[in-house]
Amino acid sequence: MAMRQIKEWCDDALRVVFPLVCEVCGRSLSRGEDSICLHCKMEMPRTRLHLEEFNTIHQRLAGRAPIDKAGGYIYYYRDSDFARMIQRAKYNNRPNIMSQLTACYVAEILEDGFFEGIDFVQPVPMHWFKKIRRGYNQSEVIARAINKAIGIKQCNCLTKVRQRGTQTRKGRFARWLNTRNAYRVKNIDMLRDKHVLLVDDVVTTGATMLACCEAIHEASPTTRISVLSLGVTHLQ
Ligand SMILES: [Zn+2]
Repeated sequence: MAMRQIKEWCDDALRVVFPLVCEVCGRSLSRGEDSICLHCKMEMPRTRLHLEEFNTIHQRLAGRAPIDKAGGYIYYYRDSDFARMIQRAKYNNRPNIMSQLTACYVAEILEDGFFEGIDFVQPVPMHWFKKIRRGYNQSEVIARAINKAIGIKQCNCLTKVRQRGTQTRKGRFARWLNTRNAYRVKNIDMLRDKHVLLVDDVVTTGATMLACCEAIHEASPTTRISVLSLGVTHLQ
């Protein structure tokens, strides 16, 4: 008997005992669906920003570091079912949702050439204390999922050196002040003349990503920088 068939039977039996539900709409998932049902996957508010040469993410990151490509999977409307799904992945110890969303996004933009020429994926780092408290860094989950899908290696060239409270309720300028000089580059030799893709879960004002991009650019001006996130908020 084929191992695959045994695995499918086991999966079906588990579904009866512990029915898996869609993280967005709560419906039971069918075989082959993972975290999100097919219907919700079709309905996701995709941005398609990666097809624009200068998009809203580029605008938010306009500063001292030139940004090459910029992509974000879905629009992040506060209190929407999709935003809640990303929040659960971030705060409720559900990294599988992040991995699943990343795998979908990679598959959708691969043919558009988004990953061509990229040497490494760099997750936005989290302060070590916060990582211990939360259990994982969601950006590292995204980087690992990209590596698993298309083999681009993760690099570990950034550290967060300061943590001054949460960014959640701060405005654009306050966030920029708070994140400025909060990141340090290490392993500079690894970055020199390379193209690095910086990844994070959600881009709001862009202050966090901007601080990371500026840190990389200052330490290694020959490094090309692209960025990718799963959610992109609308600026008010
Ligand atoms: Zn659903």
